[in-house]
Order: sequence, then structure tokens, then C-alpha cells
Amino acid sequence: MADPRTEPAPLERFALETAESTAFGSGFISGIASAVLGIAGFGIVLALRFPEAFGYAELRPVRSLAYLQAAIHVTLVTSFLLGTVSAWLRTNKVLALTGIGFTLAAALLGGSRAAAAASGDAAGAWLGVDFFVLNLVLYSAVFVPLERLFALRPEQPVFRRQWPVDLTYFFINSLLIEILTILTLRPAAILFDWARVEWVRGAVAWLPLPAQVLTLLLVADFTQYWVHRAFHRSQWLWRFHAIHHSIEQMDWLAGSRLHLVDVIATRGLTYVPIFVLGFSEPALMVYVFLVAIQATFIHANVRWTFRGWQRIVATPAFHHWHHSAEPQSLDKNFAVHTPAWDLLFGTFYLPARWPSAYGLAHGRQVPPRWTSQLVYPLRRRRGA
Ligand SMILES: [Zn+2]
Ligand SMILES: [Zn+2]
Repeated sequence: MADPRTEPAPLERFALETAESTAFGSGFISGIASAVLGIAGFGIVLALRFPEAFGYAELRPVRSLAYLQAAIHVTLVTSFLLGTVSAWLRTNKVLALTGIGFTLAAALLGGSRAAAAASGDAAGAWLGVDFFVLNLVLYSAVFVPLERLFALRPEQPVFRRQWPVDLTYFFINSLLIEILTILTLRPAAILFDWARVEWVRGAVAWLPLPAQVLTLLLVADFTQYWVHRAFHRSQWLWRFHAIHHSIEQMDWLAGSRLHLVDVIATRGLTYVPIFVLGFSEPALMVYVFLVAIQATFIHANVRWTFRGWQRIVATPAFHHWHHSAEPQSLDKNFAVHTPAWDLLFGTFYLPARWPSAYGLAHGRQVPPRWTSQLVYPLRRRRGA
């Protein structure tokens, strides 16, 4: 804990002039580098977006798209990472915020995709990294203050144990967003085209948007419920899903800890009835947005209990009990959107308190690193 005598006034964090050290390790060098790279990256993206305004149009033929995309990427990602290092080390956040702010602005302008857009090419393979930077900034901007202000466990820091492994999951899932989306959508389209009935699809598409979204949520959660239950039931599937249940400190980032097989199987199967029933694209977009928010929120370190709504909407308390290490709560609360399915199928469990501990039952553990967790389910089991 910081010594109260040296605790800075809030303004000191954002003052443009500071007497804080500039030595190595003070967050000064990383802050300067973050700000310089952030501004440079933003400048390049801006010039690519508006080439005529910046006198850049004549250079168009000499630009090598692949190298340029790679260079913008490395610039933006480095600026972002150095900005977080500086924000962590340094009391004064001006340099860090400058770097992160310009990186975010560059990402909003399209990041490295600006290069592809400028030369008329399709979006490049770098989309994932832009998506990661943008995602991380947006999610942290919402959830970090929320968890600080309304913490269920205030003693748990933002950079708690095992945060690097969860950030790796967050990074990989964002990076693979395109391939994961294809792996979610394609199998249903190839294998279940025969199951589509025109009049049913017509009727679903005819529903107003709110009714479509509501139906979609119920249908998706029903499928997700049974897929999730199968992951708990089958010993072989459980080895993949155990990675998610190895979370011992709950927060918004922890929810990212999902084995790729778990992600692909759950999303791919959940999409089958959505595809067959033929919901409209806007309904699907709203659903994707809602599932991203709710799946993150139910893991968050917030103390809100939503009394009165607990049997209708999946809340943090509902899902925290799914992660509880207490034996009586094992194999309970499988839904993501509504506990209705758990109530109906007899797996609802929600006492009027919070779990005493999270993680695998009987103190079981999975390996600590992302790579070892990736191969863990495929390895021969030794008594576990
Ligand atoms: Zn589970
Ligand atoms: Zn979970």
C-alpha cells in the first residue's frame, strides 16, 4: 500500500508538469516511447485515411501494403503496451494516456486496415490485433472503474494473480476473431442447410426486432445450456472446460479463460438453431453484442445482486456460484442469459451469500501457462 504521506493529490496524476523521476524504471522512458509511437501511428493512419489532404497521394504506388500494415501494427501495439507499463509504474499518467489515447484514435480510424482501404485492397489479416487493442481499451474503460467502485472483493487488485494468462486468452481470442467466426458459422451452414424451412424462416424474420432478439437469446441459451452441461458431464469434454473452472479470482478478464475447443464447440453448436431459424442480421448483431457484454459481466468482481431479477436474468452472483469450489454448488447454473433453463431442468443454485472460494473442486489444478493449458486436455491423464 502507498504511504499516505507520499500519496499524490489526484491532480498530480494528470498534471502536465511533474517533478517525478525520469530514471529507468520510473515509467518515464516507456511513457515517452508510448506517446511518440502513438502519435506517429495516429499520423500514419490519418494520412492513409485522407491521402489527398496530407499530400500523400503521389506516394501510393511505392507503398508496400504488407510491410506498411505490419509496421502500423507493431507501432500501435508497442505504443499500447508501453503505455500500460508506464501507467502502472508512474504516478503521473499524462504520457501513458497520450500514447494509449492516440493508439485508440488510430484504431478507431481503422488502424492498419487503413493501409488496405487506401489502396483498395480487402481488410488485411491484421484485423485481429486492431480488434484486440480496441477491445481491451473499451472493456477496461468500462469494467475496471466498475470493479473499483462496486467491488465484491475490494482487496483483489486489478493486476491480480494469473492476470497475464487471462490477458493472453483475451489477446488470442481477439486475434483469432476472424477464424473463430468462420469456424462458428461455416459448420452450421454446411451441415444444416437441409434443416431450413422457408415458412419458419419467413415467420421468424417477420417478427419485430425486439421479439427476434428475445427469442434468439432464449434459443441460444437453451442450446448453450445443454452444450455447457455436456462439457461438465463427459469426462473427456470436462478436461477442456476445466480450464475455465481453474479461475480462482473472479473478474471481467477471467471470463476470457476458455480453451479454444470449448469456444469453437460451444459457439458452433449454439449457432446451429440460430442458422436454421433464420434470424435477421440486425437481431444477430444485437445478440453478439449482448452475449459479449453479459458473458463478461457475470464474471466481474462486482457486488450487485439484482434482487428481484435473479431468477430472470443471469447475474454475477448466479455465475459466481457456477465457479464456486464449494461441493454443493458443483454442476449448477449453466445458463449465460437466463436462469430459466436451470430452474426448468433442476440445476438452479443461488443462496443469499457469495461463494467462499472459486476454482476446481478438491484443490485440483491445471498448468499455469496458456501453452500448457492448450495441450493439457489432450495429454494422458495421471490420476486427476
Ligand atoms: Zn462450467
Ligand atoms: Zn464462467
